[in-house]
Amino acid sequence: MMNSPLTLTAILERAGRYFPQVEIVSRLPNRQLHRYTWGQLHQRALKLAECLQNAGLQKGDRVATLMWNHYAHLEAYFGVPAAGGMLHALNLRLHPDEIAFISNHAQDRFLIVDDVLLPVLENFKSKVRFERVFVVQHCQNAAASEYENYEDWLAQASREFHYPEISEQDGASLCYTSGTTGNPKGVLYSHRAIVLHSWQQCMADSCAVSQHDVVLLASSMFHANGWGLAYTAAMVGAKFVMPGPHLDPESLLELIEGEKVTLSCAVPTVWLGVLAALEKRGRSWKPKRDVRILCGGTAAPVSLIEGLARHGFHLIHSWGMTETSPQATVSRLKPEMLDWPEERRLQQRAKQGWALPFIDVRIVNEQGLAPADGGTMGELEVRGPWVAASYYKAPETADRWTEDGWFRTGDIATMDPDGCIRLVDRSKDLVKSGGEWISSVDLENTLMSHPAVREAGVIAVPHPKWQERPLAVVVLKDGMLVSPDELRGFLAGKFAKWQLPDAFVFVSDLPHSTTGKLLKSELRRQYADWCQRSLRFDPLAII
Ligand code: ADP
Repeated sequence: MMNSPLTLTAILERAGRYFPQVEIVSRLPNRQLHRYTWGQLHQRALKLAECLQNAGLQKGDRVATLMWNHYAHLEAYFGVPAAGGMLHALNLRLHPDEIAFISNHAQDRFLIVDDVLLPVLENFKSKVRFERVFVVQHCQNAAASEYENYEDWLAQASREFHYPEISEQDGASLCYTSGTTGNPKGVLYSHRAIVLHSWQQCMADSCAVSQHDVVLLASSMFHANGWGLAYTAAMVGAKFVMPGPHLDPESLLELIEGEKVTLSCAVPTVWLGVLAALEKRGRSWKPKRDVRILCGGTAAPVSLIEGLARHGFHLIHSWGMTETSPQATVSRLKPEMLDWPEERRLQQRAKQGWALPFIDVRIVNEQGLAPADGGTMGELEVRGPWVAASYYKAPETADRWTEDGWFRTGDIATMDPDGCIRLVDRSKDLVKSGGEWISSVDLENTLMSHPAVREAGVIAVPHPKWQERPLAVVVLKDGMLVSPDELRGFLAGKFAKWQLPDAFVFVSDLPHSTTGKLLKSELRRQYADWCQRSLRFDPLAII
């Protein structure tokens, strides 16, 4: 067989050749919809690649972006790797010092930035060294004169672009993990890894992405390579929709209805908001076309899966990490499960599912390889062609990989006899109470199945006797009221007494990370002295 390289340039050329009329829709910062096609994207990505080469970009050089999800970001997704460079999408929600750290570590040479994000750049520009900065102009007023205009730059292309020689092992895109456990770490995706990951997203038993889909990318393009979906949509010629900065539930629903979206993706928090908005429209309101939702990043609660289904949104639960491109497992029902009672089917779908083809997973604890008995917990380890083999320029992190080449995820899981994975918790989020482990995820998901609860976070708070005890921080649905006793009673039937939270705190909002996940580190910080504050817990205290 021929040894054709698996590169993004093949995907770009295919989109331009076979799907030139298929639409790409972007919601711009001013809320207007920008429309063009894969054909135009193809042309403009090649212009960008030519301009980058003319600017002196060498193979492997990093080009940073500071942009929301829209057409120009998509051009960089394809144009930078086409020029032989590596796209580095900066997380615009990080602290300026963190962005500067990441950009310096990556040694970004160029930056493409939204005009509306220039104030973010302003906060770290003195700490970084971009050779040139190109501004995508969305607003009428001209760009700050110290920077160049992206459109003017693209207009200089002669359309005489020739692809450099690109190997499938070359880096195409660089993403940094969050810095919750030390400095952020870079994951460099190769062309080959991205192509293979895209291929699996098209599998009927994964996300089944096809040219019949309209894909809405509701997860950020700076998070885990935009979950791979931009490349997958281009590969199959799906209509592609991007929400810009407008990620509120109503704006998303407007796009879903208006553009006839059939597939979207984001973390559960986003869908919790969408579900609340759907419920306001009526218990059985549905968009004209059913929508599949690729959902991961944190565990998807049963109540979310069930609630969304009522409105024609079918959640596909998947587990992965920045380090795994990101999808590594997917939870789709097997044929024999279709006849199970609904409750059992929902419980099954709330698990993280089975490893995708070519991905291997195993669970390891102090005793060695954990048995696949659905109960024994251990750390989840993973390997495969789209799993990172190291962090970018960080030899000091080599211990995240085992000697036999598996990546240590830091997640605690169990494995069913049929190989299905259930994530118990992140090891740092488990509540270690009197030598026993309590899953914060299980408590949260059960709390969220209470009709009055919108979102719940369970954290470990230090305890003088038990080392740690669970504390539940709860957001109620609009207009709902419930007492701590009722919530305790609700959990009591499903958990042992010692596993129940010591207290329930009611708040109007929970802190979220830059990628929309519950920020447990912040909750832990806020409630670190909980035991001192309430030496004797008063169950009727509503804070
Ligand atoms: P971070 O959350 O640290 O910024 P990632 O976005 O790469 O970085 O998150 C990866 C982590 O998210 C996983 O290690 C796991 O803890 C969690 N995660 C991802 N998918 C799921 C899921 N379906 N269920 C539960 N946890 C998940």
